This record gives sequence, structure tokens and C-alpha cells, in this order.
Amino acid sequence: DLGDRSYPIYIGDGIIEQIGSYFAKHQISSRSPIMVITDDNVASLHLKKVTTHLLESGYKVVEYIVPAGEMSKSLSVLEQIIGKALDAGLDRTSTIIALGGGVVGDLAGFVAASFMRGVKFVQIPTTILAHDSSVGGKVAVNHPKAKNIIGAFHQPQIVLYDTSTLKTLPEREIKAGLSEMIKHGLIWDAEFSKWIDENAEKLLSLDAEALEYGLYNGCKIKSHVVSEDEREHGLRAILNFGHTIGHALEAVAHYNQLLHGEAIAIGMVGAAKLSVRLGYPERIYTETKAAMKKYGLPIQIPGHLDIDEIMKAMLHDKKFKEGKVVFTILKDIGEAHIQSGISIDLIREIVEELR
Ligand code: NAD
Ligand code: ZN
Repeated sequence: DLGDRSYPIYIGDGIIEQIGSYFAKHQISSRSPIMVITDDNVASLHLKKVTTHLLESGYKVVEYIVPAGEMSKSLSVLEQIIGKALDAGLDRTSTIIALGGGVVGDLAGFVAASFMRGVKFVQIPTTILAHDSSVGGKVAVNHPKAKNIIGAFHQPQIVLYDTSTLKTLPEREIKAGLSEMIKHGLIWDAEFSKWIDENAEKLLSLDAEALEYGLYNGCKIKSHVVSEDEREHGLRAILNFGHTIGHALEAVAHYNQLLHGEAIAIGMVGAAKLSVRLGYPERIYTETKAAMKKYGLPIQIPGHLDIDEIMKAMLHDKKFKEGKVVFTILKDIGEAHIQSGISIDLIREIVEELR
């Protein structure tokens, strides 16, 4: 239980079995139906468990299954879900549950934020990456012209992180999710960073105790940074470490070749390289790169991605103003810093060196 903020995050093996008591404790009403939104992968693996325990605890349950993947974060899916919610008799007192990774979390969260101007929302994350996306209250769907552009801030009532659900994750998704955990260590906590380095084998093999500790610390760091800066004015930008280059890589790779965690792994190596170039200690680069390697994450830009296109995608980014760039770098391991006035030529050099 991360009790030091407005909503609790419970992390542990088998938490879904006690969903009824968590719901009762946190005033989730059983008067009106609850809607569980999930994707077709997660539905076949974990939905029955959730629904069964909710029914046993006296809740009426409506299931909504979307196709897995980013395409489901759309206004048309949102409209269909709300249609079903109305048909099934959901009202102001209903709760929306997100059972899945970041896609389902963002989508279901936006349903909860917009249905009847906002109803209660519960996150049951089933990916490692979702330790990041389930904390902070950002929810959204995509527009064909831009990702996450139609959204809101809507905090969940509770987050129930059942680590047993992670056992069915594909290996590539495990590594990509751990990439964000590595980021949280690098930007905030040198000791946690060291622990991540020493426990790679355990985390990669989903050792329950290591996962609990790692997810707990990752959530704690994210939530601490966000609570200092709920609406993204200053500090929250340190969470973008690795993301400026990473987002550009994802876009140029059409969002279907690199997983988010893989793209930001390359981005973090780039940002670490930049940090050293700006005069900070060499170990920032060597340790960041070593971490990515240890976790089987990519450290180089795939050969078929065009550097000009990557630069163009980055220039589209709102953080770039008048030939000067604002970048999240590290002053040291565990100490992120927002540096402005970096020349685009230097960024290009760094990107070229990531080949
Ligand atoms: P995802 O939700 O698409 O999940 C990845 C894949 O794993 C999917 O195919 C899914 O079906 C499958 N899956 C999920 N849980 C599983 C399980 N337990 N076993 C087997 N398969 C499982 O992607 P993600 O990486 O979790 O999240 C990415 C999304 O998160 C993006 O849309 C991104 O914009 C969003 N995001 C949001 C925030 C935020 O603050 N709101 C932060 C970071 C990322
Ligand atoms: Zn990210």
C-alpha cells in the first residue's frame, strides 16, 4: 500500500482474489453495474478471475472487450463503450475498471472521466509498463493526427496490481516494461538504480518479491514526481527522460516496429550520451548503456530508420523552440535535470552516433 497520496496502490501476488474486500474498503458501490474494460488478449487470460470474484462479492458486472493494441484508443471505441454502458444501466454511481496494460488503462480511464462527467475508476494493471501508466491520472484516446491528444486528468479510486497476472506476458513486453522501471531509477534514485542493476535476473524471471519491490519503487517515484507537479509545469518533465528521441523513433517506425519501452531505451542511451557531452560524468553514459544491455533492450537506432525523418519527428515535438531544445538529461545517476538551450546540431550528432 503506497499510502502517501490521494489514492492507494496495492501490489502483490493474488490481489485479484480479494477484490471484493478492497472494493468494500474503498466505497465502490454495488448498487449499479460495474463495467470491466479489457482487451482480447487479457480477456482470455485474466477476465474470468476478475468477473467471478466481483460476482461473488455481490457486484453486477458488465464486460467490454476491445481488440488489443493502440488502435483501440479511439473516439469510435469510446462511443461504442458508452453505448453499452447506457444499455447496461450504468449511472453516476457506477465504477469503470481497466483490466490490462496502458492501452486499456488510458481508454477506460477516459471513459470514466467523460461518462456522465466522470465516474469512479479502478486500475488493475496487467503489464509491467502499466506501473508507469496507471499512476499520475493522465487518461486519453488518440486522434488520427496525434497520440493521446483527446484526454483528461482522472485519478483512479484505487490501483490493484496483481503480480500473478504478469506471468503470462510475452518476454518482449516484460523487457519493454522494465525499461520504464530503469528510467525511474535513473532519474530519481541512484540506490534503486543500483538495485535494478543487481536484480536483473530476478526481475526478468518475474521473481514475485523482486517484482513487488521494483514496481513499488517505480510507482512511488512516478507518483512522487507527479504529486509535486500534477499538471506538468516543471518537475514532471523529468519523466520524459529518453522520451524525446524515443517518441520520434516510435513515430518514424509507425508505432508498430518498436515497443514504447524499446524506443525509450534507445532514447535514454542518447540522452545519457548528451548528458556526458554537456559536461556531466562519463558514468552516466556507461551505466545507462550497461543497464539497457543487461535487460536485453536495444541501444541503437535500427538501420532502416532515416535520421532526417527522426529529426523531423523530433522538431514536431512541442518542446522544441526556435532552434534550441529543452531536453531531460542526467547530472548524475539518480539526478535528472531539465536543460534548455541545447542546439539542434548537437542533438543530431548524438542521434547519428546512436546508429
Ligand atoms: P498494451 O496495453 O498494449 O499491452 C501490451 C500488450 O500486452 C498487448 O498486446 C496486451 O494485450 C498484452 N497484455 C497485457 N497484459 C497481458 C498479460 N498479463 N499477459 C499477456 N499479455 C498481456 O501496452 P502497454 O505497454 O501496457 O501500454 C502502452 C500504452 O500506455 C500506450 O498507449 C501509451 O500511450 C500508454 N501510456 C500511458 C501513460 C500515462 O501516463 N497515461 C504512460 C505511459 C504509457
Ligand atoms: Zn514512457
